[in-house]
Amino acid sequence: MKNTTMILLACLVLFFITGCNEPASVGNVSVEENSSEEGEIMDPVENDDVPFSKPEDSDRQEEQQMEPQLTLSEIKEQLIEVYGRQVPVQWGERVSGVKNSIDTNDKVIALTFDACGGGRLGNGYDEELIDFLIENNIPATLFISGGWIDNNEEVFAKLAKVPTFSIQNHGYRHRPLSVNGQSAYGIKGTGSVAEVIDEIILNDEKIAEITGKRTQYFRSGTAFYDDVAVNIANELGKTVVNFSVVGDGGARFSQQQVHNAVVRAKPGAIVLLHMNRPDTEIAAGVRSAVLELQKQNVSFVTLDEYHKYLSEEVIN
Ligand SMILES: [Zn+2]
Repeated sequence: MKNTTMILLACLVLFFITGCNEPASVGNVSVEENSSEEGEIMDPVENDDVPFSKPEDSDRQEEQQMEPQLTLSEIKEQLIEVYGRQVPVQWGERVSGVKNSIDTNDKVIALTFDACGGGRLGNGYDEELIDFLIENNIPATLFISGGWIDNNEEVFAKLAKVPTFSIQNHGYRHRPLSVNGQSAYGIKGTGSVAEVIDEIILNDEKIAEITGKRTQYFRSGTAFYDDVAVNIANELGKTVVNFSVVGDGGARFSQQQVHNAVVRAKPGAIVLLHMNRPDTEIAAGVRSAVLELQKQNVSFVTLDEYHKYLSEEVIN
């Protein structure tokens, strides 16, 4: 345990010294101080999930990152100054600033798969589902939590190398994104501006350590947010993405229900599914729906491919 922590800390230090990219470099926050609070995050029923990264792009990103970087503490100081006294007026899955669909006439659908982490069910890996996507070259955005990565390190490293997958951020501890501790589905949300920043940035760093690339998209655990937290995420350079179609009913749907939900998705839909529940019929439902949609000449895309067209509108 101690050795692992030391190695992790050493990696973090190296990571920050060399500079990684984009808005935030997180220097002086120890992983230990942030990882002790909530061990397990149970999340069997939530309606959320998915992320993307192309590891081969990491060199280009590093080149772009020449300007001086703020430490995590400095970022927190600045954002607490701006947002610390703001009182949220919205709470839920459909909050201003959250993207839900793709505004396009193209016949495309974005499949997104959450890996939530937390407990035996949360930390599962649906190999049948992922193998189907890989073997059939189906692009997908995978939103992955810090807890899930910790429990599936080898699998995560493998997923990060799949060129048709976009690896994105599902939160360090898979918590609803709140500045004042609001809960969703019985999961307590982050409780302050600083915790919102940790929830996003600590997982961003964890992912970047393995993929060599920071994430562009964030979806909170449970997909719940307040409007102040969404603004903070945007300040950190993240686009917050939810969904327009619930593909698996919080991992509760039967094969037929998953099939029906996905196959009815309209062009531009962002479909929320889970990749951490091999105990369900999600894989079977996705397989039959994808094959059916392909017959209708529907293409599957990652969020990155349609970044400019992400919209708050709900197209389902
Ligand atoms: Zn989740």
